[in-house]
Amino acid sequence: MSNRHWAVIGAGICGLHAARQLQAAGARVTVFDKARRPGGRLAVRRSDWGLMAHGAPVLSTGSASPDWLAEVLGATRSAGLAKDLAWEPLHALPALAAGDQDGFSMLPSLNALAAAWSGTLDLRCEHTVTRLWRDVSGWWLLCREQEAAIGPFHGVLLTTPPVQGRALLQADAGTAAEQADLLDDWQGVTQVPCWSLLWVPASPPDAAPTAGTGFIERPASASGLALVVHEHRRPGAGGSPRYAIHATADWSAAHLEHDADAVREQLLMLAASHLGCSTASLFTHLHRWRYAVTGQALGRPFLAGQHGLWVAGDSCLGATAGDALASARAVAEAMLMAHDHGTE
Ligand SMILES: Cc1cc2nc3c(=O)[nH]c(=O)nc-3n(C[C@H](O)[C@H](O)[C@H](O)COP(=O)(O)OP(=O)(O)OC[C@H]3O[C@@H](n4cnc5c(N)ncnc54)[C@H](O)[C@@H]3O)c2cc1C
Repeated sequence: MSNRHWAVIGAGICGLHAARQLQAAGARVTVFDKARRPGGRLAVRRSDWGLMAHGAPVLSTGSASPDWLAEVLGATRSAGLAKDLAWEPLHALPALAAGDQDGFSMLPSLNALAAAWSGTLDLRCEHTVTRLWRDVSGWWLLCREQEAAIGPFHGVLLTTPPVQGRALLQADAGTAAEQADLLDDWQGVTQVPCWSLLWVPASPPDAAPTAGTGFIERPASASGLALVVHEHRRPGAGGSPRYAIHATADWSAAHLEHDADAVREQLLMLAASHLGCSTASLFTHLHRWRYAVTGQALGRPFLAGQHGLWVAGDSCLGATAGDALASARAVAEAMLMAHDHGTE
């Protein structure tokens, strides 16, 4: 195994989990991500009023079993990687695109898990992969931030959102031709957008949320709001009233290219009207996710292309972080098995 070197593109929860399994089996792995920090769509923002999640507010199970996810979290803590990581199992949770399901809330944040995992990996952040190709020596990557090509790698695992991953494969004519079957299979997978607003109101509402809704509410979809996350009511969190507001996929698509200030104003009005307070703000932060959650999933845990190219991610199985982890586990097992059997 030691002479093998895999490149993993994407340091979201899928890429990191897969990379850790490959590394644990004795492989050499380098993970590349275009962002400054790992975690992908588990993004959080610090503010003077406390942490707020503008990506996934919770780790929803999706196709993964809650017991297995609890085991993954427990193993991370017992390995001493994230001593202060705390999690709370949640039941019948309103999730953005997948109906009610079980899941976990995490403190200090979901993305603390990504930070803990990446500590043991060879991770290159601020490496935006713009080209991917293969020659007789193996796979090579070109990154926007680097002049020289990086490689050779004997295999590549692609865990970017599908639109970005497909564009990367199509950027090189030879790669696109060689991976035509994989591209065909990947073509039908779609993701929907989400505008998300983090908000600390100047005059927070007095009323507690309706009993039973917990810290995440799913307003009626006609409101334009998919989720209202009461971050200060998150189990164990506390602090000033602060909210993560997620617009519905339809509202986000209709406003996708609108001016950010106009979107901020409209989302503030929708949120204030839902919560029953004024739009006066101490803090706002707006984020546009072009590829937020899966619309149409692949329906199997990963794709295997030609010559050691693999594809994984949440949208292989569903729309949640649990799906991303289940995909990571399956692809890493398949990569190791293909290597053992010499079928790459
Ligand atoms: C607004 C919102 C709400 C959500 N709500 C929930 C929820 O309630 N429950 C739940 O479980 N999940 C939720 N999710 C989904 C959850 O965040 C994802 O399922 C999970 O984080 C996906 O992990 P991933 O590793 O598959 O992909 P990602 O996290 O997207 O990771 C892909 C990585 O690839 C990197 N990348 C992309 N292109 C390149 C390139 N060219 N070069 C290098 N790096 C690149 C990106 O920077 C990113 O870090 C939500 C997501 C959003 C955005």
